Amino acid sequence: MRTDLIERYDLRVPRYTSYPTAPHFGPAIDGQRYRAWLGALDPVTPLSLYAHIPYCAQMCFFCGCHTKATKKYAPVTDYLGALADEIGLVAEALPARMKATHLHFGGGSPTVLTPRDFVRLTDRIGAMFDIAPNAEIAVELDPRTTSRDFVAAMAGVGVTRASIGVQDFNPQVQKAIGRIQSPQLTARVIGWLLGYGIGAINMDLVYGLPYQTVESVTATVDMAAEFRPSRISLFGYAHVPWMKPHQRLIPEAALPGLAERWLQYEAAGERLKSHGYVAVGLDHFALPGDEIVTAQARGALHRNFQGYTTDAAPALIGFGASGIGALPKGYVANEIDIGRYKQAVRGGELPVTRGVAISPDDRLRREIIERLMCDMSVNLDAVAALNGASGDAFEPELSALSPLEADGIVRREGHRLAVTEEGRPLVRAVCAVFDRYLDAGEARHSKAV
Ligand code: SF4
Repeated sequence: MRTDLIERYDLRVPRYTSYPTAPHFGPAIDGQRYRAWLGALDPVTPLSLYAHIPYCAQMCFFCGCHTKATKKYAPVTDYLGALADEIGLVAEALPARMKATHLHFGGGSPTVLTPRDFVRLTDRIGAMFDIAPNAEIAVELDPRTTSRDFVAAMAGVGVTRASIGVQDFNPQVQKAIGRIQSPQLTARVIGWLLGYGIGAINMDLVYGLPYQTVESVTATVDMAAEFRPSRISLFGYAHVPWMKPHQRLIPEAALPGLAERWLQYEAAGERLKSHGYVAVGLDHFALPGDEIVTAQARGALHRNFQGYTTDAAPALIGFGASGIGALPKGYVANEIDIGRYKQAVRGGELPVTRGVAISPDDRLRREIIERLMCDMSVNLDAVAALNGASGDAFEPELSALSPLEADGIVRREGHRLAVTEEGRPLVRAVCAVFDRYLDAGEARHSKAV
């Protein structure tokens, strides 16, 4: 891609895992409103459930998640008690015992749990919800804290997908990000997963980290591809030390510049394709038979807080401190502070502190943005018609897209938009044109590339 385009569109734009995006959630949405929204769900609505474990054995310097390091297990035990209580409170607020088609354990590191506690947590969820027999059950793993017994417990409760954090295999990069993880360790955990029949494996890689070069990133890609994970995510490191103070431990002088970041992204993507992976959306790659690839081809790919997914459940419930939910009436975000989260739950309150109700206009724009992020194209007339609106309403946005069109990032045919292959890394800049809430300088997000 041309350097001038990278510089011109180096906007601080959201990742669009929701719309409106999280900085626009506010305190008007609380536990009471959440309770009403849960109660209003159609009892046959399939649910997607997410449980957040906000603990890790140690803090990686680059981490952007809501988590904290703990050497002791007592805080984890205490937290799991509150989590079990919250699961009960949510189940009580629903109109009936409901079915879950997706269950995702993330964090932090779910692997800090003892295998026994992991099984207890899944049992607690299973006691309150009907887990569909073909449900996808996914767990995020930190290989450094994953034991064979934990993998056996995963298999025992029917986990179908594992997501493995790798980031980079280069020792200098690993040292600079405070995450030493040998390829042998990663290989051992993958061996356990395959041995226990968990064959759907995602691997997370990151570019834009300190000391990374095009050569080191492609070398990491080569090593990752040897493991043949069915999906590989390629995320850009977001350096936001004003929000994540531990990122001050990252040697800033060793961070690649904007043009170098782009070269890394481009080279890693090309190398993944040469290994047989198909680009999915902005930052995912998958083997051709993977359902995320077939979903993309059918226009059935979705995007939620975990990124790209085949999960089409109309209601997502997030459990745990910082858990986020997406219900037909709006988004809800749980208390982030673990102490206050536990206090709220123990007092019998749903621990929601922020959120946003979705207006018909939000719903329409959300769908446009989701289609752009997932399909790299959108038919404004079709999406508008489904929402009882007209594509003509978007003339101001179409005019605002002119510079992106002139720069070859997006093509326009009437009310149909298609992001070009060259424009794919800048798709968020196209989405931003449809974002009514975006106000330059108001909320600081990560780089578009
Ligand atoms: S293990 Fe994952 S969640 Fe925990 S600090 Fe490292 S990157 Fe963050």
